[in-house]
Amino acid sequence: MSSIADNIESVTRRIQKATEAAGRPENCVTLLAVSKTRPADDVRQASAVGQRAFGENYLNEALTKIEALSDLSDLEWHFIGPIQSNKTRQIADHFHWVHTVDREKIARRLSDQRSPQHPPLNICLQVNIDKEPTKAGCSADQAVILARQVAELPRLRLRGLMAIPDPDQTEDELRHSFRRLRQLLDDIRQALPSMAGLDTLSMGMSADLELAIQEGATCVRVGTALFGPRRPK
Ligand SMILES: *Cc1c(COP(=O)(O)O)cnc(C)c1O
Repeated sequence: MSSIADNIESVTRRIQKATEAAGRPENCVTLLAVSKTRPADDVRQASAVGQRAFGENYLNEALTKIEALSDLSDLEWHFIGPIQSNKTRQIADHFHWVHTVDREKIARRLSDQRSPQHPPLNICLQVNIDKEPTKAGCSADQAVILARQVAELPRLRLRGLMAIPDPDQTEDELRHSFRRLRQLLDDIRQALPSMAGLDTLSMGMSADLELAIQEGATCVRVGTALFGPRRPK
């Protein structure tokens, strides 16, 4: 069985190869290690070899882990799960990034509840890029409207877009889903020309990170390729 350190090395190499093959600058893609369902010690092992950014989907589980790892002061926590409005305060208190904002109410609460002691919370809007009926995320049209709203909120810093494409697609269809998300970010940049720092496309996971990087991902969210198959909750 390979260790977490070995897996980080091999995923980092995959990212480097894909970045180079796409003719993109070195280090333009961040590895977000998705540690949901994994014990705090797995995060500690990853952090010991230099991994800083970790993604969590379930708030209570995340809070326990963040607390257990509070001696590691340089970790960056990203919330990547569905958000209920009664959970926004704790998300605003404990995370550096939220990738799954898909409606104004949630954005407004996160901004209102973000402490002035912290820097603004980094936000990606989640887009339901393949229009799947049961999936979270706003539509592409709504994303442009929501981006304008989020840009006005003082305690949020809009960084870009996130999507989880329909996994039951051919490679070509998947490529087009990634491409549409990238195009949508370009549209938002044009619609909000004064908005600096729209630099993030959070797309690509263990199975498809190369494809996402070819299509412009700046943040790949990787779980199983780093930590192995997920444990049941
Ligand atoms: C679980 C999860 C991932 C990681 O998926 P893997 O296939 O294990 O790499 C990425 N993004 C989100 C939103 C997730 O919930």
